[in-house]
Amino acid sequence: MSETAAATILVVEDEEAIAEGLRFNLERKGYRVDLAADGQQALNRVASHRFDLILLDVRLPKVDGFEVCQRLRRDNNFTPILILTARNQADDIVHGLQVGADDYVVKPFDLAELLARIEGLLRRQGWKRDPESNGNEEEAPELGRVPFGEYWVDFRSWQAKTRDGVQELSRKEMAVMKIFVTRPNQVITRRELLAEVWELPNHPNTRVVDNVIVALRKAFEENSWRPHHIHSVRGVGYRFVF
Ligand code: CA
Repeated sequence: MSETAAATILVVEDEEAIAEGLRFNLERKGYRVDLAADGQQALNRVASHRFDLILLDVRLPKVDGFEVCQRLRRDNNFTPILILTARNQADDIVHGLQVGADDYVVKPFDLAELLARIEGLLRRQGWKRDPESNGNEEEAPELGRVPFGEYWVDFRSWQAKTRDGVQELSRKEMAVMKIFVTRPNQVITRRELLAEVWELPNHPNTRVVDNVIVALRKAFEENSWRPHHIHSVRGVGYRFVF
C-alpha cells in the first residue's frame, strides 16, 4: 500500500474550486498532486513529468480531455487515465473509453467512489508494471479455481468447466478470463485486452480479441446472443458478470 500512497496524480480540471478540492482530498490520502487547468497544460506536464495516474476532466478549454487521452495513447503513454464526465453524457463515457481512458467517474462525483476508483487503477498498474518489486508480477494475485454460474476456471491447471465438460483453455483464453474475473462488472475495452493480453497497445485490428471472446462464449454461454457472463458493451468492449 505504501507505493500506492506515494503515487503522483495529475489532476486536469478547469474549474478551480473542483481542482483545489480534489488536491486537498488527494493530498490528505497521501498522494502527491499536480494540477493542470486545461488540456494543453496537461500535455505539457506529462511531457516533462512521470505521473502514476491522470484524473482528467473531459470538458476542458483549448484541448479537451478526449484529445489529451488520444494524443497520450498515440504517443505510447499508458499512464492510467480516469476521466470525469458530466451526468447525462453517456456518449462521453463511451467516447472516453474508446480513445483510451481506463475508467470513468460521473460528476458530481462521490468522493469515496472516486478514491476507490483511483486506488483500483493504481493497484492494477502496480500489479502490471512492477516486475522488479515482487518477483513474478503475473502471478501476483494468486487465483485458484474461480466459479461463476455453473462454470469455473482454474488458473493453476488452465482447465475450465465448460458447457462441454472440463476442458483445457488456451493461453490467451486464460489471460482474458483472468482479466474478466479480477475486474468484474467493469467495462474492459478491446484496446485494453489487446494491450494486456496480446501486448499490442496500438494495434488497429481487434479481430484477435473477438475470436477469443467467441471461443469463451461457446464455452460458457448457452446463448451467445443473450450472454449471462460475458456481456458486450457496444463499440467499446466487454463486461464480465459472475
Ligand atoms: Ca470542465
